[in-house]
Amino acid sequence: MRFALRLFAMPVLAMLAAVALGFLAVRFDSSPRLVGLVTYVRYACGAMSVVSICTVTYNLVRVWRAYNGEDEDQCTTCGMPTTRKVGRYGPYFSCWNCGTNRADR
Ligand SMILES: [Zn+2]
Repeated sequence: MRFALRLFAMPVLAMLAAVALGFLAVRFDSSPRLVGLVTYVRYACGAMSVVSICTVTYNLVRVWRAYNGEDEDQCTTCGMPTTRKVGRYGPYFSCWNCGTNRADR
């Protein structure tokens, strides 16, 4: 469950933002004062759609590469992709699946 959240939270949030911006563009279109902002809201809607597609593609490509053993920063416990972070004790890798942290040395 946590793995699915880590994989799809960002794309789903970006998609929901795109849908919300789409509704906002429709609302702005009918308002005489805000009709000037419709173009920018539509660009933001398109940008959020692109962000959603790019993030889900990136995450699934990382999982596919890890599944085939080609990912550079695989988890040493379960073999899934990791994210490099910088914490209080220096840089480390945090696994997407099991949450294991491994120091980057
Ligand atoms: Zn792991």
